[in-house]
Amino acid sequence: MNFSDHRLLIANRGEIAVRIIHAAQALGIRTLAVCSEADKLSLPATLADEVMVIGPARADQSYLKAELILEAAKQMNATAIHPGYGFLSENADFAQAVVDAGLIFVGPDAHTIRQMGDKACARTTAQAAGIPVVPGSDGEIDSLEGAIAAAQTVGFPLLIKASAGGGGRGIRIARDANELAKEFIIAQSEAKAAFGSGAVYLERFIEKARHIEVQILGDGEHSIHLYERECSLQRRRQKVFEEAPSPALSSTIREQLCQKAAKLAQALHYKGAGTLEFLYDDTSEAFFFIEMNTRIQVEHPVTEAITGVDLVQWMIKVALGESLSIQQDDITINGSAIEMRINAENPAKGFFPSPGRLTHLQWPVGEGIRIDTHLFDGYLIPPYYDSLLAKVIIHGQTRQQAFERAITALNETQIEGVLTTMPLHKALLQDPAIKTADFDTGTLEVWLPENLHKLIEKEKDDALTTH
Ligand code: ADP
Ligand code: ADP
Ligand code: MG
Repeated sequence: MNFSDHRLLIANRGEIAVRIIHAAQALGIRTLAVCSEADKLSLPATLADEVMVIGPARADQSYLKAELILEAAKQMNATAIHPGYGFLSENADFAQAVVDAGLIFVGPDAHTIRQMGDKACARTTAQAAGIPVVPGSDGEIDSLEGAIAAAQTVGFPLLIKASAGGGGRGIRIARDANELAKEFIIAQSEAKAAFGSGAVYLERFIEKARHIEVQILGDGEHSIHLYERECSLQRRRQKVFEEAPSPALSSTIREQLCQKAAKLAQALHYKGAGTLEFLYDDTSEAFFFIEMNTRIQVEHPVTEAITGVDLVQWMIKVALGESLSIQQDDITINGSAIEMRINAENPAKGFFPSPGRLTHLQWPVGEGIRIDTHLFDGYLIPPYYDSLLAKVIIHGQTRQQAFERAITALNETQIEGVLTTMPLHKALLQDPAIKTADFDTGTLEVWLPENLHKLIEKEKDDALTTH
């Protein structure tokens, strides 16, 4: 298909805006960047064919303001909008407004976003499709009495989750009825303030589970899965280090899990890239659906590395009307890939954000190395947004080779002027439990207080060796 008449507006910033610009340019599509005052000199603003400043630095006055983005789309003659991740990417009203303005939304339709982007609703849909979910309340709970009654069957410990939550936020734990009484009210008001909706539901807290998610891709008619990612290494329920495939799954379980996910995608007539997230219990080999992200995910490059499929290009192509020409049998797993999220954060100060000006930057080179980033030498990292600076993605023929290449790659990486999470990743790569994939979603929270001081000290004086 010839896409040269299209003009794609990227309603995002940072590394994902750069990633989308590259994908669009490869397809011969003109790229239109919108940015805040703080991002005028950013890499996506420089790389795009055209750029427009839409508002002040604060995201709620720029990247989160649908009207401003739609107005820019009109002025720039955009034909389509890619929302990236975060911001308006899972906002059904925005997706609908884009279509109502006569433009193409790169993602599923508003109805699907509403159905699957709302967590309580997604649970019900998954369950109806025969996918096991974590035991929890049937839909949203709007009163404390309702929560106490539901907790009888859900059981403690449990999580109170915001239906509209995301990015690891909007989740509170209650270990008994007293805690539930206290936390429920806080959860409701926090959800209202953070996500604009106070809707919450309950879910049993599963300790010692792995986070395993399945990538799906569809064109509205036909859909496939692209196997799974393992994202158990998390801090505050936010992914830190991801890999594909999961080292924990047998091929039988892998096929079962991925086929179920693909079946759900098919039932939804899913259009675009999406992810079904599960908790997996190694011992019982049971998996439970937790949520779906109806957008591109941060960690999508590990899937691209092992399957050779460009997910962002496909999102754009199917949105512009091309059929998905890949069949399920075309998708095979080649080797192993890991992704390390390099954030501008100070590990020594509770991972407090560490914005500022880059004084020196050097990326590694070599086989199997991919860097997704918006950084450049001299860039001033603004304090207003997500602290993600770069994703270092490493591919190897085996998991061990990926780890070895990753150590060399991080040793060659130099980011100066701000503090980053690089020391954490260097230590994780050498940790025996991480190397043997002996971890669950709680591991990093225990590991950090035990190891942090060591890695901060170590970072001061030496570089790592591969031995
Ligand atoms: P992924 O599932 O792709 O790993 P994350 O959970 O890390 O994504 O979220 C990606 C980005 O999107 C982060 O910047 C996060 O803060 C943001 N984000 C995700 N969901 C929401 C939401 N519902 N509200 C606000 N920000 C969100
Ligand atoms: P978000 O939208 O913020 O990504 P998720 O529902 O995906 O929210 O949960 C984020 C993380 O919290 C999961 O990856 C997992 O580590 C943890 N988590 C979520 N639900 C449960 C649960 N029922 N039991 C244990 N951990 C959970
Ligand atoms: Mg999630």
